[in-house]
Amino acid sequence: MALHVAIDGPAASGKTTVARTLARRLSVPYLDTGAMYRALAWRALETGTQPADEAALMRLLTREPIEALPSHADGSAFCITIGGRDPGAALYGPDVSAAVSAVAAHPNVRRAMVERQREIAAAGPVVMAGRDIGTIVLPAAPFKFFLTASLDERVARRAAELAAARQAVDIVELRRNLERRDRLDATRAVAPLRAAPDAVQIDSTGRSAAEVLALMLELVGQEAHR
Ligand code: C5P
Repeated sequence: MALHVAIDGPAASGKTTVARTLARRLSVPYLDTGAMYRALAWRALETGTQPADEAALMRLLTREPIEALPSHADGSAFCITIGGRDPGAALYGPDVSAAVSAVAAHPNVRRAMVERQREIAAAGPVVMAGRDIGTIVLPAAPFKFFLTASLDERVARRAAELAAARQAVDIVELRRNLERRDRLDATRAVAPLRAAPDAVQIDSTGRSAAEVLALMLELVGQEAHR
């Protein structure tokens, strides 16, 4: 059984930081599935495609497929492109963050993304982060984590990340966006944000990324190298 690690959790719960580091430590690639949904939302906004229009989004996805390519800059992570373009930091702009949950709610959009994600897992070991990895994408993954943190802490962490990337930060808007995305992601009909029954739940409130990573490594690392 390949080393598949599923990490799910609400927006800004620290998944990306720990997933990326865990993948490096285990020498397996990391796939941020949120970036795939964000890439489609980004192109939808650029092309004037309505996030509510599933058929138009599917046409866009057919015209401009999403690829997950081994990154040149960071061999341990996949770089997400759409129509051959890498959106880079634009994926994390406020407009994309506001539109992405509506885009990700469509069953056909999810089917296409999940198919791609499963192909990647079929090709080898991977640490995959998202909302439905443990429940839908890789239900047989031997390691599953569900990472949470208080809303206050998640807002503070995301604000620090944006500030470090020299992006404008509006705390009120940021909090509103995280709350709204969590609500939409947790209440959608298809693949809602939910912990798999066999996932290890970790509340990272008041814990550093290093502490959370150590916990995960203890569970994965030992068994993975047995
Ligand atoms: O992880 P991130 O916050 O970048 O994800 C952006 C959005 O993509 C989420 O709010 C959710 O709507 C969607 N998403 C999803 N399923 C995943 C990963 C992300 O629906 N596996």
